Amino acid sequence: MLLATVVAMVMIGAGSAHAAPAPAWPLVGGDSTGPEVTSAQYLLRQRGAQIDADGIVGPKTQAAVKAFQTAQGLTADGIVGPKTWGKLVMNLDSGATGEAVKGAQHQLVRHGYQVKPDGTFAASTASAVTAFKTKHGLPATSLIDATTWQWLIGGTPSVAGWSLPLSRATLPRSEYDDPHHDYPAIDLPVGTGTRALAVTAGTVALVNDSTCGRGVVLSANGARFVYCHFSQHAVASGATVQAGQLIGYTGNTGNSTGPHLHFGVKIGSTSHCPQRLLLAIYDGVAPPAPSSLPTSGCSY
Ligand SMILES: [Zn+2]
Repeated sequence: MLLATVVAMVMIGAGSAHAAPAPAWPLVGGDSTGPEVTSAQYLLRQRGAQIDADGIVGPKTQAAVKAFQTAQGLTADGIVGPKTWGKLVMNLDSGATGEAVKGAQHQLVRHGYQVKPDGTFAASTASAVTAFKTKHGLPATSLIDATTWQWLIGGTPSVAGWSLPLSRATLPRSEYDDPHHDYPAIDLPVGTGTRALAVTAGTVALVNDSTCGRGVVLSANGARFVYCHFSQHAVASGATVQAGQLIGYTGNTGNSTGPHLHFGVKIGSTSHCPQRLLLAIYDGVAPPAPSSLPTSGCSY
């Protein structure tokens, strides 16, 4: 699956016109949260459900899914899987309005397109859809058909060469834009023993001091990515690592008042704000160059 994603991205990068298989439909149910939930909710609203599109599956959303499944002759298990998605999505094109259009626009925004999710399929949405489809080797039209929906919603967005510092399911997106105390960096609230991952390929140096505690400095792309307060290292000093590779386990060592992962970006002696970098990786869009990250505005 990971390999297939990488291959697909390489093909896109090479400008190939061949369409890769669409990413799998996500399963939405139980305690799911995230953009795929929001899209399912918008589509259910289009079908008349009285629910909020808040990105969280609660009892009302589950009841709405079951009612929709029953009406469609599907097994009413309350989980939006491939069959339910297939019945839920609908063809949309220029001029359409409504909740389903908002669902599609919400996904276009997630994929980095500048679209206002206002429920009106106007020229800006049409050009975003055409660009999105072209990027994925689909016919260059503004029609959002089932395959386009699957590309919009399906799969976990991934950016070649980059990883979040924690597995994607660990924290919601909202944790990646929080300001840091007193200087540019970010504190990610996770318990001791959570796997910390290399954000990109590079070379690691281990830290052991009273401030950072057990930490790792990952040198890559002309920058240093600083991880602090590990309970345990998982790499040797001087090791070469790949994006997404386990480098340590989070903890509470050094100057820390509770378990969390401190993450910073430094170039020379200057600290840069990591928030925009992390949000881009979370959203599956190419992150800004570390040197372009702001050096203020992300601390209090
Ligand atoms: Zn910190």
